[in-house]
Amino acid sequence: MSSKKNTDTRATSICCYCGVGCGVLINKEKNGSITVEGDKNYPVNKGMLCSKGMNLHYTVNDKSDRLLYPQMRYNKSMPMQRVSWDEALDRTAAVFKTFINKYGPDSVAFYASGQCLTEEYYVINKLIKGFIGSNNMDTNSRLCMSSAVAGYKMALGEDCVPVCYDDIELADLFYVTGANPAWCHPILWRRVEAHKAANPNVRLIVVDPRVTDTCAIADLHLQINPGTDVTLNHAIGRVLIENGDIDAHFVQNHTEGFEKYSALVFQRTVAEASRICGVTESDIRLAALYIGEAKGFITMWTMGLNQSVVGVNKNLSLINLNLITGHIGKPGSGPLSLTGQPNAMGGREVGGLANLLPAHRDMNNPLHREEVQKFWGGTTINPKPGLTATEMFEALNDGRLKAIWILCTNPLTSMPNVRMVEEALKKAKYVVVQEISNKPETLQYADVILPAAAWAEKEGTMTNSERRISYLNKVVEPPGEALPDSEIICRFARKMGYNGFDYKDAAAIYAEHAKLTAKTNIDISGLNYDILKENRSVQWPYLKKRYIKDSSRLFTDKQFYTPSRKARIHAVPDEFTSERADNDFPFILTTGRIRDQWHTMSKTGKVNKLNQHYQQAFVEIHPDDAARLAIGEGEVAVITSRRGEVHVKVRLSAQIKQGVIFLPMHWGKILGNDLNRANNLTNDIIDPISKEPDFKYCAVNVVKFSKP
Ligand code: SF4
Repeated sequence: MSSKKNTDTRATSICCYCGVGCGVLINKEKNGSITVEGDKNYPVNKGMLCSKGMNLHYTVNDKSDRLLYPQMRYNKSMPMQRVSWDEALDRTAAVFKTFINKYGPDSVAFYASGQCLTEEYYVINKLIKGFIGSNNMDTNSRLCMSSAVAGYKMALGEDCVPVCYDDIELADLFYVTGANPAWCHPILWRRVEAHKAANPNVRLIVVDPRVTDTCAIADLHLQINPGTDVTLNHAIGRVLIENGDIDAHFVQNHTEGFEKYSALVFQRTVAEASRICGVTESDIRLAALYIGEAKGFITMWTMGLNQSVVGVNKNLSLINLNLITGHIGKPGSGPLSLTGQPNAMGGREVGGLANLLPAHRDMNNPLHREEVQKFWGGTTINPKPGLTATEMFEALNDGRLKAIWILCTNPLTSMPNVRMVEEALKKAKYVVVQEISNKPETLQYADVILPAAAWAEKEGTMTNSERRISYLNKVVEPPGEALPDSEIICRFARKMGYNGFDYKDAAAIYAEHAKLTAKTNIDISGLNYDILKENRSVQWPYLKKRYIKDSSRLFTDKQFYTPSRKARIHAVPDEFTSERADNDFPFILTTGRIRDQWHTMSKTGKVNKLNQHYQQAFVEIHPDDAARLAIGEGEVAVITSRRGEVHVKVRLSAQIKQGVIFLPMHWGKILGNDLNRANNLTNDIIDPISKEPDFKYCAVNVVKFSKP
């Protein structure tokens, strides 16, 4: 596969940040640099870009931090030295073979990212599951969307977002919970704002422990106590049933589980729910009234529900509101999870999680395993799910895992309980880091560093939150000896002696992936690069025989992907299993994003304009709490949890509940120090089904910093 091709002077692409997936036009200037503009012809954003998207070119033009050539050390006490690609990959293949032969295939793992392109995910997944014989491939999407994946699958029979963005302009009620799309999915939010501004009958309910910018246009803000989402959703469900505001015909004919659900939600009075959630009974009833009156009802959510030890239950309790009211499979209605990362969806399509096989096939289904194994022609697929994100680092810590290959992500800022991850990387026998930047903390633990091509330096595809698959052009050459991630993985697979990794180009990888989806629910067997380049983007499914004319909205026939073809209403308990606050740790910490930064800032942190919004890490705390602690605005607070410590400046805000504090998740060593990292504090307990960590809830203490 060749990585060096001529480039065009103007090309289409997709923003590489959030899951909205905005269309971008890249202009290549005579001096080799690029500029970007929003693509007016792209259906998602119609020319608009947010602050992050508008500044994409800086991250490509500024090569000052780029890794330019492979580096390696033969033992942990040696310094890194420049080596050739062959030396780096030969040695890594030899080390991997040694571990696999001695300790078995589960002694190695790949930890990737929702920012990888679909083709990259595909080849990693094929390599480890189809040839090495382990399912130890997970990604940082585990930290982001896995609770939504499980929720969709349990409720609808398939991991699928049933709505499309064009449903926004057809809805008259939005229920936004555990999300701040005004900052984190800005262009999609501008569509909601414009629709609401033009239609006074359109209503918005926001559920969030903080008053965020999303609340600015809300008709009702339910400022709940953190962690009480299931109780709230059940209480709303109860009032809907009491009021007769459910779609009895839909429930009767197209769902199962309603009786059990109804019995459960009536076990708790609305007054009780009000006390637990910290919102008034009348507001709960008003929310239910708005839902009962809606003709088009869209629920939107993201990390506030997903990143929880009960994330799947939170998802199910929310989807229940769409199901009992019949607001699914019709214009302007349905559950719309907002994907955090640009290609978390594409990664799931190729099976790029430790418990998945390609095209959303099930690892625990012997027929599915056999189908994939025959298609790939490799080894027998292991029926045992692999290690998920947090489990990988625990396994490095206790020695079960010997080698880890980390690409396109910076776990030393992004993982919960990051001190545990630090210990794990210190103990790891062999660490491969495949990266674009020389900044991430992970590099200091690497035995091999592999320089990767960045956005606009490689071609491929991504899928956004509405199942829209788009082609990204290569516009500029990667610097130095950097290579596209898929090419690095394929070269390594060949060094391991495996057949089936000699692709002519990225189009050939995509063609193989598309073929493997045939006859599944996410069938895109009719799709290829030519169609994507011509149409700019398509939504899945995209079958060979295009008998589905419009795949923009799913379940218009009310036939769900469950064996009974009925959607499942789940009677999920509203039990509380997060870490409890106590006298030693009396505050609840919740973490999140800020408007102008992306993840651990290895890209957005390079852009001066984006650093102006917030120039340094901070903790948001209610003025009454701060007064009790005798800490003023701008003073340094020391925040401790059972796992670690953070020192950051205080921002007083009456927009957060008393007893709750907020830390942005972006800062780490890239633009600060390791006492800025919110994840020093967070808890690595995980949802038992989705294995997603409890980022949004842990017990902490706050004191004013005083010099020792
Ligand atoms: Fe990029 Fe998301 Fe902003 Fe669109 S909304 S420009 S995809 S970061």
